[in-house]
Amino acid sequence: MQAILIFVLVVLLLAADAFIGGSRMAELKKCPFCGSDNVAFTPDEEQLLEDTTTGFIWCHGCDFSSDSFYSEEIAAEKWNRREKE
Ligand SMILES: [Zn+2]
Repeated sequence: MQAILIFVLVVLLLAADAFIGGSRMAELKKCPFCGSDNVAFTPDEEQLLEDTTTGFIWCHGCDFSSDSFYSEEIAAEKWNRREKE
């Protein structure tokens, strides 16, 4: 009986950890075109899928917007890869 309770507890902890990790806002680098750090992930107006949010990165400094990506995570990854360090 006790073993089952511990198992349930571990599963809950793992689920909570995944939830916290998944909802963390992605850190976006500065805009490579104008240097503004006022860049944000902007969800598409029409969402074709329920389990993810498609959208693009929009720079409010120079009005640049990236292509639309499958999720915020992927968009952030592509955006951060774009800028040369
Ligand atoms: Zn910009």
